Amino acid sequence: MASDESQDEFSIHWIRDIVDEVLERDPDQYLIVTGKSMSGSVHTGFMKEIVIADAIKRELQSLGKDAKSVFISDDFDPIRSFPPSLTLSPEEYMGVPYSDAPDPHGCCESLGTHWTNELVETFPEFGVDPEVVFQSKLYETKEMMDAVRICLNHTETIREILIEYVARDFDDKQKAEYIESMKTWYPVSVICPKCGRIQSGGKGSIVPNRVTSYNAESDEVSYECAHCGQSETAKLDKIRVKLSWRVDWPAKWYVMKTTCEPAGKDHAVKGGSYDTGLEMSRRVFGWEGPVKVPFEWVRWGGRDMGTSKGLVFTPRAWLNIAPGELYRYMVLRTDPAKANNIQTDLIPDLVDIYEAFERTYYGFDEVDSEKQELAKVLYPLTEVRPVSEDYIPKLSFKFAVVTSQLQDILSEDTIIQRCYDVMKKQHKLSEISPEAKSLIPTRLSRALHWAKEYGSERDKVEVSETVPKEIRDTLTDNDRAFLERFVEVLKGDSLDDEELQGKVFETARDVGLKDKRAFVVLYRILISRKSGPRLGGFLNLLGNDWVLKRIQSVL
Ligand SMILES: [Zn+2]
Ligand SMILES: [Zn+2]
Repeated sequence: MASDESQDEFSIHWIRDIVDEVLERDPDQYLIVTGKSMSGSVHTGFMKEIVIADAIKRELQSLGKDAKSVFISDDFDPIRSFPPSLTLSPEEYMGVPYSDAPDPHGCCESLGTHWTNELVETFPEFGVDPEVVFQSKLYETKEMMDAVRICLNHTETIREILIEYVARDFDDKQKAEYIESMKTWYPVSVICPKCGRIQSGGKGSIVPNRVTSYNAESDEVSYECAHCGQSETAKLDKIRVKLSWRVDWPAKWYVMKTTCEPAGKDHAVKGGSYDTGLEMSRRVFGWEGPVKVPFEWVRWGGRDMGTSKGLVFTPRAWLNIAPGELYRYMVLRTDPAKANNIQTDLIPDLVDIYEAFERTYYGFDEVDSEKQELAKVLYPLTEVRPVSEDYIPKLSFKFAVVTSQLQDILSEDTIIQRCYDVMKKQHKLSEISPEAKSLIPTRLSRALHWAKEYGSERDKVEVSETVPKEIRDTLTDNDRAFLERFVEVLKGDSLDDEELQGKVFETARDVGLKDKRAFVVLYRILISRKSGPRLGGFLNLLGNDWVLKRIQSVL
């Protein structure tokens, strides 16, 4: 995400531009559709598509339009490989639709449903609520079967389109072979009633159970299973079929009446599957198809994520360490043609940036009019919940990182009380509203997860039960003199963070100890390290009683 921070001058009007284009379609109901193949745990990058669709939907709704978003889980796709962690036998299920394989986790009706649910249950926390449609169920509808018939009746046109698009970059020999193979090609495959497969073979050697002929009059198809050899001629409504993937997409657009669908660069590239689908929409289904919204991927630590590559940072993993609002902000403030990069190590800084942006929206900070305008347009689109009329103060994420790690030495009540104190001070409040209070536990839990999983050594605060012997043994007489005096400071009036910080310097000077050494001594006694969170605040966070006992234990 850091790479996007330089785009301050970038305007959010790209959403408005898309919405203008979508408005020209003028349907009774605007349908913004997204979709994902269910070949494993879905990674956070996919949420970019969902968030863009949601923003378009919100904009349309704010214009008084009837708009809805839909997520299609492509669970009817055949299994081609399994993530390494899965206990199912790949040989047994290769070529079977994900919707037909059992869920080895034991909780869902199929493997496809499992990964769908894993994704869908995170939607509310990202502020999205698309209707969830399973591709496997869609193929059980009369509308989808009618679309299959349209494709079978337009097989020749589909062949022409595929030759035109798929073979455009082939050399003459490849092209001739492709044209030859297309002569007997049909856009439909059959799920074998005997072995349950829709194709045989694995990577590089896939043979689909393709229909070999279609009789429009009797509505019968012939096929032969490439895996078990089962063959028959059967009525279309007596068997289970699926369109091949470049055809499946425009068929779904047609059946759903999709107004707009965002797509990652792999599909949206010029002449790619999206364009092929639009061509089929026009020439096979007789309409113009959806508005195409191409976007660049989200990378993670500078690398492309991929379910098959095992490089998966899931939406749940994001929510464990950061707010959904920050993800929406990251996606929506960036030109969709540019990649986003999730830098997990920078989450505390990014939360700060987002929350400064939030304060701009509420008019707290003096910023130029362009920034104000950006906040006015963008902030409501980044919010996960309806925008509150009044600003809800947030606990500083960086404070939460430190505080959340003190749960072994401070009681839950004390931690919460410290959070209230710090918020009152930071936001100049006399009281914390119930809304603000309700956000604190989640913030603490995210900060704790972040510190443990992605924090640097400096961010980690571990307090041992007692001060280790090797630390006690290295204290010099001068160190002890400093500590004895500092004990007197702590026994006196309570001081605020800055005053306490100042007292460390002052006390060190009084006994002729170098400032730097005084800080090292205190950090080592507190957290067995040479440095740590800003000391004045940290001491107050720990509380005088605890700090006093700790220091006295080494004297
Ligand atoms: Zn499950
Ligand atoms: Zn078979």
